[in-house]
Amino acid sequence: MPDISSRNVTVLGAGIVGICTALSLLEKGFVVELIDRDQPAEGASHGNAGVVSPWSSVPQSLPGLWRSIPKWVLDPEGPVALRWAYLPKFLPWAIKFLQAGNLDHLPAIGDAMNALNRPNVDLYRRHLNGTGHEDLLKDSLYVHVFRNPAGADLNQLGWRMRQERGVPLEVVNAGQLHEIEPALSPDYKAAVLIKDQARALDPGAVGKALFEKARGMGATFRQTATHRIVPSQDGGWILQTDDGELAVENLVVAAGAWSARLLEPLGIKVPLEAERGYHLVFRDPGITLNNSIMDTEGKFVTSSMLAGVRSAGTAEFSGLDTPPDYRRAKVFKRLTKRLFPDINVEDAEEWMGTRPSFPDSLPCIGEIPGQPNLFAAFGHSHYGFGMAPNTGRIVADIVSGHTPNMDLSPYRIDRF
Ligand SMILES: Cc1cc2nc3c(=O)[nH]c(=O)nc-3n(C[C@H](O)[C@H](O)[C@H](O)COP(=O)(O)OP(=O)(O)OC[C@H]3O[C@@H](n4cnc5c(N)ncnc54)[C@H](O)[C@@H]3O)c2cc1C
Repeated sequence: MPDISSRNVTVLGAGIVGICTALSLLEKGFVVELIDRDQPAEGASHGNAGVVSPWSSVPQSLPGLWRSIPKWVLDPEGPVALRWAYLPKFLPWAIKFLQAGNLDHLPAIGDAMNALNRPNVDLYRRHLNGTGHEDLLKDSLYVHVFRNPAGADLNQLGWRMRQERGVPLEVVNAGQLHEIEPALSPDYKAAVLIKDQARALDPGAVGKALFEKARGMGATFRQTATHRIVPSQDGGWILQTDDGELAVENLVVAAGAWSARLLEPLGIKVPLEAERGYHLVFRDPGITLNNSIMDTEGKFVTSSMLAGVRSAGTAEFSGLDTPPDYRRAKVFKRLTKRLFPDINVEDAEEWMGTRPSFPDSLPCIGEIPGQPNLFAAFGHSHYGFGMAPNTGRIVADIVSGHTPNMDLSPYRIDRF
């Protein structure tokens, strides 16, 4: 049970998870400091695809996926890339990833994803309320498009998992699809729609708006890099930072893909992988999209945002420290043109961000066993923008000594 006699909480990492955690802690009356080496919401939370789905319940690893991996990895425009020098470090995680996709594990993973995501649109709307940035979140369909109409088959495993969890789905034919998204190429003959969700017009701006709200509620922000977390004699923690040593009482680690590196010296080893993704923003696209569009062949999402049309995706495994390979982003030029033939792709800006990915697509949330006053809130993989507000709410409950009314065992840090 956490020591709730102290009302001071430090949140390490001001990505969307740390910011939402800060907001929920502030709502409970805690005194909150956010720490980040960068400005808030500049990491993975800045450049993602902006999908906020209350329905995400299908993990990345599914049975039979391994059959597609060689083809994907060998195709320079494919959705998965691996730097071969990184293979020995990557293999143990990859094996755990494939094991997580075992049929026996999927129902529990699907339920745990669903439980984290389900209230996300409502929670974002509540958090954004009064910031003046309410319009950053728009109602949206999630349109999964297929050139071969046979692909839009609700009997496939992923769609069955969604249906079992009450996800509102509809299959539409070419005519209906082009009414919904007139800019789409006529080559696309069918789609599966996931209804009743939202999309962000600028995910980074959502994070920044919520950060300013947290500041308005009394949170402080310190911009400094943390190199090491060490236990202090008085039961709190000492952060060794660029600004020297900082003594903190309760510490939430929300440092995204860098969290495992910070925890390892404490003897906490977790299989957290840096799964890098890219985006390309077409700044003068000449077309507008009404929804989040998932290209089911290229495995990327395209959406109209404030800065233009953004295509985002790719899973690149090369560790935390290698420089970006922007060829991975430039691939989206051709792939986006295949979707939307009239789009102007000339004025494009690229970006790389690092997803914090566990093999089972679930994050770690909760107090870290054997480490009093140290809490985990990281590892949200492909779903962190959607999972962040509920993660924040759960962490704030736990820090304040309340057990949330849900099964937290799927998110335990010692589950691996
Ligand atoms: C291409 C792409 C598309 C995506 N699309 C979606 C989507 O549509 N919907 C969705 O739900 N999710 C999506 N995601 C996933 C989502 O973006 C992430 O899961 C989420 O942003 C993770 O948030 P975070 O706060 O944990 O991490 P981050 O945003 O990376 O924040 C971590 C913060 O910790 C700071 N930090 C780390 N180490 C230190 C240190 N030592 N000292 C100080 N500060 C430190 C970093 O500077 C950073 O600001 C996508 C991701 C990518 C890459």
